[in-house]
Amino acid sequence: MKTIPLYDKDAYIKEFEAKVISCEAIGNDGEDRYKVVLDQTAFFPEQGGQTSDVGLLGEGRVMDVQVEGDEIVHYCDVSFEVGAQVSGMIDWHHRFGNMQQHTGEHIFTGMAHRLYGADNVGFHLSDNTVTLDLNIDLSAEQVSFVEHLANEVIAADVPVKAYYPDAETLAKLDYRSKKELDGPVRIVEVEGVDFCACCAPHVLSTGQVGMLKVTSFEKYKGGVRVYILCGLRALKDYNRRMDILTKAYQTLNCREDEIPEKIEGLVADNKQLKYDISQVKAKVLLEKIENYPPELEDVTIFTEDLDAKNMRDGVNALVEKHTGLCAIFSGNDEDGYNFVIGSKTRDCKAIATGLRELLGAKGGGSKEMAQGSVNATRSAIEQTL
Ligand SMILES: [Zn+2]
Repeated sequence: MKTIPLYDKDAYIKEFEAKVISCEAIGNDGEDRYKVVLDQTAFFPEQGGQTSDVGLLGEGRVMDVQVEGDEIVHYCDVSFEVGAQVSGMIDWHHRFGNMQQHTGEHIFTGMAHRLYGADNVGFHLSDNTVTLDLNIDLSAEQVSFVEHLANEVIAADVPVKAYYPDAETLAKLDYRSKKELDGPVRIVEVEGVDFCACCAPHVLSTGQVGMLKVTSFEKYKGGVRVYILCGLRALKDYNRRMDILTKAYQTLNCREDEIPEKIEGLVADNKQLKYDISQVKAKVLLEKIENYPPELEDVTIFTEDLDAKNMRDGVNALVEKHTGLCAIFSGNDEDGYNFVIGSKTRDCKAIATGLRELLGAKGGGSKEMAQGSVNATRSAIEQTL
């Protein structure tokens, strides 16, 4: 590597001095972007599923850092003279958060490996999400048990060390690794818990992870994908959830632990009210139908918010009294209409086909009754009928 990775030996370097090896202007979409290579850097590049550090370089911002060939490339918004000395400062809040998440992941996977023989087959650490994929399908109880043990390891505040063992020591070491590695292998050891090949910066002891919370998990490729949050990000998420709960019990005017019962009650009330409203609407519709003079052959009713059953009952009542085409359209010009048509003398199936051909209606039925929906205005429907 042309660039000396300072983070490799010391994850706590926040500021550093370096010499500019190259600086190349890229892109031209209105914003200046430069690829800057330094002789050494504390910026951790995107690697092994973890997004890069961000921060400041000289007067400019570092937006992204990538390994390209044997160089570590900083994507900056200002240019630098080749050979110039520059000072770099990584966004420590961002980096430390990443260190908390990543060490937390090692502890969780290490525990799942020891208990159930699970291996990590995928890891993703971005600003919003931390996921780890295990190759074994764990139950909710097992995930919860691993979470508990991981937090005990965190509370025990054991050392976390990163080092390159010599070939002989490495050969004897039982460590986790996603792939066969060539060249020197960097081992991250959580004392008494886990050995894992890893290139990323970690906290110095497990206590600095703060806490680990599994926020959800799902079946994934024959194993399980676990979403975790550690440290301050876990606290932030806790507070976000507390805000939601507080809004909920204030709105429902109840105690926090009464929320589920309150919601169940509201859902049941809502169902009953919908039924009651439907009954009232059916009654109003049937009264309206009774008032049409029987000598009227065709009757078409336009209305809003009728359910399918009320519409069918309505058309059945109309067909009893009127010999022509009986139709109910429920909806409005903006969203379109649902319809039911019925007749003792006319071919409803053919009429539904006509509506489909002329207005793009959907649905169908029999000669006696047809139903469907149409995205057209009332006047277009009336003209078509
Ligand atoms: Zn790792």
